Amino acid sequence: MTPSQIRDRTPTLESVPAYLDNAASIPMRPEAVEAMLPFLTERYGNPSGAHAVSREARKAVDEARDTVAHCLGARPAEIVFTGSGTEADNLAIIGAHAVRPGPTVCSAIEHHAVLHACDALGDNRLAPVGADGVVDLDRLADLLDPSVSVVSVMLANNEVGTIEPLADVAPLVRERAPEAVLHTDAVQAFSWLDVADAAASADLVAVSAHKFGGPKGVGALVVRQGVTVRPIIHGGGQERDRRSGTHNVAGIVAMAAAMRATVEQREATVARVRELRDRLAEGLLATVPGCTETGDRASKIAGNCHVSFEGVESESLLVLLDAAGVYASAGSACASGAVDPSHVLAAMGLSRAQAIGSLRLSLGPGTTDADVDLALAVIPPAVERLRAS
Ligand code: PLP
Repeated sequence: MTPSQIRDRTPTLESVPAYLDNAASIPMRPEAVEAMLPFLTERYGNPSGAHAVSREARKAVDEARDTVAHCLGARPAEIVFTGSGTEADNLAIIGAHAVRPGPTVCSAIEHHAVLHACDALGDNRLAPVGADGVVDLDRLADLLDPSVSVVSVMLANNEVGTIEPLADVAPLVRERAPEAVLHTDAVQAFSWLDVADAAASADLVAVSAHKFGGPKGVGALVVRQGVTVRPIIHGGGQERDRRSGTHNVAGIVAMAAAMRATVEQREATVARVRELRDRLAEGLLATVPGCTETGDRASKIAGNCHVSFEGVESESLLVLLDAAGVYASAGSACASGAVDPSHVLAAMGLSRAQAIGSLRLSLGPGTTDADVDLALAVIPPAVERLRAS
């Protein structure tokens, strides 16, 4: 494909664009849409009330809580429904810190929902990561002492897809900061990893529905029995006084349906998407000179393909790809538009030029062979065109 063909390849109703930004959000699963619709129309009750209409809504929330708990390896009473993954992370960090104030420790590659919550509390210690994007356990251990109140290490990173060694982090925390609460942000992990198992050692676990086929604006925090978080939203005392506000019944029901479908299909999805991701990464490495892959593919979630193109600004590349129907991201969605290279890539030691030339292609359950074909047809000439200009 020539550069002018790329320019002309604006998506039309006939062409099928390649959505490769699944880490930002994925389409709702049909099971989730179907589950939520009655709660937007005829089943409108407020679950906090006492009459039959309310009781029906409460029953739906209770059933959803059972499903979410099961999928996360928790007890129903340990689930706190929230208004987003961001809120779940904030409740974890700020809520646990309020119970026992002290320094916080988090990995240098956390999502801003964790990083900024820790920063807001004043005394945050950043645990470095290696060039592979995996937290350095020795350096983390050095930051831990009995005064630490909260430790947060994500299960999978949103930009480069690295899976963090939570099972190795937990014993370090228990030994060196025995009263600290261990939080993990599993927002990007849930589609790809058995979070019930992978996060079993954490006291607090955050998820967000729109990352696995539920609606936007609903999430959950697991708060293990015996762990206390102070509410950050005050009001009617819903969620056992841990998160006030009328339940988003439709969203909660849909999140549970999406979780169930994700868990049922996870193994097959991971195997299929990993093959597509490998073909995409290898295709780019083989056809684009000066293309490097970020991190070690073996220790990443299956949907993440993260590459850097020498001598290219990925913000410009995104414009060409957008016009050609390939939708990707230059960093995390929250960071796009920002001029500074992402804190994740900086923490991994990428140079400014490498970081600025980075492209995140994130695959999801809906990604097809045709999406990868289109990306492999469009990206190499687009990179060439930018280098020539
Ligand atoms: N944590 C991670 C790792 C994420 O990738 C995101 C969203 O991009 C969030 C937290 C925030 O979740 P939400 O979009 O539901 O606020």
